[in-house]
Amino acid sequence: MRRYALAAVAGCCAIAVGAAAVLYLDPFASSGPGVAERVEKTEERYSRRLIETWERAAEESVDLALLASPGVQGASRTREVRELVVGRGDTLMHLLLRAGVPRNQAAGAIEAIRKVYDPRRIVPGRKLVVTYLAGDPALEDRNIVLREIKLDTGPGKAVAVEGRAAGFRARRVETPTELRLVRASGKISSSLYHATKKAAMPPAIFVQLVRIYSWDVDFQREIREGDSFDAAWESRYTPEGALVDHGKMVYGSLTLSGKRLELYRFESRRGTDYFDKKGAGARKPLLRTPIDGARLSSGYGKRRHPILGYTKMHRGVDFAARPGTPIFAAGDGRVAYAGRKGTFGIYMRIRHNERYQTAYAHMRAIRRGVRRGTRVTQGQVIGYVGSTGRSTGPHLHYEILVNGHQVNPMRVAMTPQLRLKGEDLAAFHVFRGSLERRLAQIGTSGFVKVSSR
Ligand SMILES: [Zn+2]
Repeated sequence: MRRYALAAVAGCCAIAVGAAAVLYLDPFASSGPGVAERVEKTEERYSRRLIETWERAAEESVDLALLASPGVQGASRTREVRELVVGRGDTLMHLLLRAGVPRNQAAGAIEAIRKVYDPRRIVPGRKLVVTYLAGDPALEDRNIVLREIKLDTGPGKAVAVEGRAAGFRARRVETPTELRLVRASGKISSSLYHATKKAAMPPAIFVQLVRIYSWDVDFQREIREGDSFDAAWESRYTPEGALVDHGKMVYGSLTLSGKRLELYRFESRRGTDYFDKKGAGARKPLLRTPIDGARLSSGYGKRRHPILGYTKMHRGVDFAARPGTPIFAAGDGRVAYAGRKGTFGIYMRIRHNERYQTAYAHMRAIRRGVRRGTRVTQGQVIGYVGSTGRSTGPHLHYEILVNGHQVNPMRVAMTPQLRLKGEDLAAFHVFRGSLERRLAQIGTSGFVKVSSR
């Protein structure tokens, strides 16, 4: 028991360290990539009395990993921290052996890791920090006892292994990250997508930008050369500056034909949404474009009919898209018609409220389970683009009806679904003020650190 107890003393190292004014190397607080291998050694000398105290405290937590420590005697132990960088073709076993960990302990640790992480997934360039206790380097058998492993598994993520009484135990841990407010802006020359890409806006954020403006902007027709955008979003980074993940867009601004439309993300008591400067929600009852990745192929109004040859009023808008492209319900409502309807082919009409209805024609198919009377929500898939009925090629013919009459979907004015009032509006203005101060701090592009954790 005595021998084990001594070993358990070693287990207390982490606590003893501070007192003895020696090491602890925080593996993730130091040096960036490019560190080939680093070894830190510290002698820990404890007074006899201190050791006796630890022995008593450790009576019940015997470290099995220390069973083979007959060589370790007296009051001198060394705690070593080794930091390695995963190389091409390295296995975890490789790395642990290279760090000096005895094979049986390395195997035990890998076994524990396997429960939370597949060790075959280690990636070259990632860090591995190994902490163990060892005897005099002059000895042939240094009686190395593995105490801790920290394997960097991704930005902001690691797997930690501890040597404990019951063997090795592994768990996933989060490493420190910081939240940044990132801003990008620019002029549009060919398309909004190209402009945001040039300004290094991540695609995930671009998608959010398009989504929050989808109620107000017809991206096919309203974007012109000389227009501009400005946006800010939150992203998490490691302290070394590696991206962990992208969060939400918090601010957007589009200046189209000289008209500026700004949107702010705000958490009100009635939910989180995007609002304009005056507190009107960006969300409208109906989508102007109930389809993704489509091209407006024919607008609303008089045109020469491509099949019949005579001039005819076109009472909807056409979006050319690949057959099978999903079509979304433009707003919340109930399906009023679903099925074949003459020249419209496979057709659906949704009643949104007393005033608004939307219609979708030439569909290849209606989504399974959607029929007359079905409740649908905005953005839900209701069918797929086709070319049924009198149609020259795959496209969606889309109509918005106000009081039973078709109107131009691109021009119809819609009232916001949510308008901030009273206390919510006051809180919004305070929030907007602080956000604008932060944006001013950044300038036209760059970032500020918001918080760390
Ligand atoms: Zn049409």
